[in-house]
Amino acid sequence: MESQIIDAAALVTPVSSLEHRALRQDDFWTAVPGFRGVAAEEFNTHTFQARNTVTNVRQLRDLLQNIVPETFYTDVEQGLKRAPMALRISPYLLGLINWQQPYQDPIRTQFLPVASQQVADHPELRLDSLHERKDSPVLGLTHRYSDKALFLPLDSCPVYCRFCTRSYAIGGDTEMVEKSKLTPRIQRWEEAFAYIESRPELEDIVISGGDSYNLKAEHIQLIGERLLNMPNIRRIRYATKGLCVLPQKILTDTPWVDALTRVVELGRELHKDVVVHTHFNHPNEITAVTKEAMDLLTERGITVRCQTVLQHGVNDQPAVMQLLVRRLSYVNIHPYYVYFHDMVPGVEDLRTSLHAGLEIEKHVRGYTAGFNTPSFVVDTMGGGGKRDAHSYEYYDRTTGIAVFSSPSVKPGALFPYFDPLRTLSAEMQQRWQSPCESRKMIEQALAAAREQVR
Ligand SMILES: *Cc1c(COP(=O)(O)O)cnc(C)c1O
Ligand code: SF4
Repeated sequence: MESQIIDAAALVTPVSSLEHRALRQDDFWTAVPGFRGVAAEEFNTHTFQARNTVTNVRQLRDLLQNIVPETFYTDVEQGLKRAPMALRISPYLLGLINWQQPYQDPIRTQFLPVASQQVADHPELRLDSLHERKDSPVLGLTHRYSDKALFLPLDSCPVYCRFCTRSYAIGGDTEMVEKSKLTPRIQRWEEAFAYIESRPELEDIVISGGDSYNLKAEHIQLIGERLLNMPNIRRIRYATKGLCVLPQKILTDTPWVDALTRVVELGRELHKDVVVHTHFNHPNEITAVTKEAMDLLTERGITVRCQTVLQHGVNDQPAVMQLLVRRLSYVNIHPYYVYFHDMVPGVEDLRTSLHAGLEIEKHVRGYTAGFNTPSFVVDTMGGGGKRDAHSYEYYDRTTGIAVFSSPSVKPGALFPYFDPLRTLSAEMQQRWQSPCESRKMIEQALAAAREQVR
């Protein structure tokens, strides 16, 4: 026990105090053979990025050629067979991957599955583990918390992340998952709008997806105006991973940025709050292009917050998370949340234990301004909502079971979170293979938590 705590502290390599300002501004994409002759003026346009987005292994091979061994391509092909998400990666991200060491690279890890790193799922994992469909009064609208709701106008994104919590719906079908479709149709949206209007307690709408980046400029405006003109609505947020994976769109898709700006200005006129929520996971994702895009949004007075997903091999080291929060803050993005990885199947290699995440939190808090310090949260399985990771009612590191309560969302209910099996002893991993033993361990944990909340 004690030695593990000391080990975690030893992980903290002191980051040079100015490293967060050293943003890449070289022509990094020219390391990819397929982008060798591409000039910055062309590469840094949203049209080039969209045209050259990679959606299959053949295109990947055409671009990378022989800078990775042939075995890498077969590894990805095999990996995709067991992946819940389809393949989609932007040229910008491809260029940022260190192809000398693709197996260790944090960006490759998030977007390109490799069979050689996949591990068996924890027996308790579920597709749609957050019960978003169960808490949906109309298709594509999740109303779980009393004053806020999640609106999903579409099911596509500029890239597909391996770890997506919405793998039940987002992106094309895969061999593993046939998706619930959320097509961007105004008629469907009208049903969601009618519901939102009919619920006076709703004040806050998250426009997610999918990704707002893939909404047309006129739809950004239509949705924004429609919501802001409802008397009950006080706050809206557009959720997009775009700033992280394709910042070029902010620089060259003027109609889209202007539409967003108009909604933000309408909000200001109506004394309502309109912000953007984005999603960065590693400091390497923030470059001089990100800063340029953020400078433009800052000039327009647009607030941007970041939600990060804690992932093994990507950002589960204190120094990486520290650098990420400082670099985000440097470009005016407010770190808002760090989510523990949801309990979704097919990406078990990416999850961390609750304990490991809590250790990282200790190193992040106090490292920069409090308002730029993210809360570490667990979005509970079964629809209990987000909980501060420290607020568990019960946690046993031997079985890897944590239990949360959520009095404001589902009073009286208890919600378990499970550490990945690989963080447990060999004997305990064996025990989890027996459904009967697993039941017993879960029952015991719930009983102990029930004692606690009484
Ligand atoms: C995350 C989430 C929200 C927004 O929650 P915040 O904690 O305010 O960011 C709203 N609805 C659902 C269903 C969510 O999952
Ligand atoms: S951008 Fe968001 S919604 Fe889209 S695949 Fe990634 S995590 Fe899922």
